[in-house]
Amino acid sequence: MNHEHVDAERCTTCKREAANAWVAAKQKRLLESLARSGLDVRGLETGDFSEVHGRCCENILGYKKVPLGISSRAVRINDFSVWVPLCTTEGALVASMCRGVKLINACGGAQGAVENLGITRGFALRLGSFRSALELYKWLPRNEDALRRAGDATSRFLRVKAVTAEHLVGSEVFVKVHAYTGDAMGMNMVTKACCAIASHICAVFEGASLAAISSNTCADKKWSAGGFVRGRGRRVSLNAVVDDAHCRSILHVGVEDLLRVYHTKVVVGSSLVLGGHNCQAANYVAAVFLALGQDLGHVVESSNCILSMQRSDCGSLSVSVYMPSVIVGTVGGGTHLEPSRSFLQQFSTADSEFFVTDRSLDSGVAPNYVALAVAAAVMAGELSVMAAIADNTLMDAHLRLNRE
Ligand code: ADP
Repeated sequence: MNHEHVDAERCTTCKREAANAWVAAKQKRLLESLARSGLDVRGLETGDFSEVHGRCCENILGYKKVPLGISSRAVRINDFSVWVPLCTTEGALVASMCRGVKLINACGGAQGAVENLGITRGFALRLGSFRSALELYKWLPRNEDALRRAGDATSRFLRVKAVTAEHLVGSEVFVKVHAYTGDAMGMNMVTKACCAIASHICAVFEGASLAAISSNTCADKKWSAGGFVRGRGRRVSLNAVVDDAHCRSILHVGVEDLLRVYHTKVVVGSSLVLGGHNCQAANYVAAVFLALGQDLGHVVESSNCILSMQRSDCGSLSVSVYMPSVIVGTVGGGTHLEPSRSFLQQFSTADSEFFVTDRSLDSGVAPNYVALAVAAAVMAGELSVMAAIADNTLMDAHLRLNRE
């Protein structure tokens, strides 16, 4: 018998039991407080909390059930196929994606490219005067190598791509760190690197102090024009060419019908409100993120999406989604929790000619496949909803699948 193995197992069991006992005691106190306020909370799911206690959530009352649906078939992208899980309470969302996936596959699958731009964190430094701030602003680019080394030392997976002095405002300098973070989404990792870099600057540049470790210039978990234009995390381009016959048999509308709706809705409608440029990307980003254990705060940026539809030379429809800021990871966050972990196993770690990055610094490959899967779900959903608008069946479908 392997004693070390038995000891390790016993230790894991003890830790699990201790965590669950702690959660149960807290849970009891919280439920009593809620009951005293007249709030009778029902439908809480119990289970093992050891993987989330002290890591993913505080004041745990229980788990909340969310339905998880899946594409009826794996969607074909480049040379691989991926099953797309969705967590949603919106009837018709999964069915709509399935229709789009069926069309994409019937027409030979999609082609996609992913560029890893790296994750970013902006921090701000305060100086005693505008003149000193200007000095620091000029000093930073000359000292970038040392700053990069300070950041790299914080993790064996993180590699700083750049440290940029982006803005000078009054006596404050806004600095941005751009980093590759292996297979992790990387916000915690890049923030740790920022702490080291900011400390280094404050130690060597007289009069500099940290004003804010997170200064909004990244702009993490917020919509920003900069994030849309420059991109952040994974910049994804996905294209599929669908022919009229398949469109008619699967979507019940033709290429011309789709193009007409595209012009009215996405070209003119989005221009009228100076935003959008897609039908419902956020629906699929949110549902895939929840199913795959991604950080839901990133749904806002990750849903940046431009849908493009053009008639191709052969009379088919060339449909593209361009998503400049998909923030995903296969390690860290909630990715260790089931069933997310099981689904994440399908994402390859093999590099591909469709990935653009600096491989001397960037070791993260699997998240590129996740980003493609997110884009594929979006594309499938866009095709299907455009068809439902073209033949005016959108409301019927929702009434049928949403109101049982
Ligand atoms: P994030 O930085 O994405 O917010 P975490 O705070 O959970 O997520 O950090 C990821 C952790 O996972 C780090 O401590 C890192 O060292 C570890 N790790 C293990 N394997 C990898 C990997 N292949 N790529 C990146 N990080 C990894």
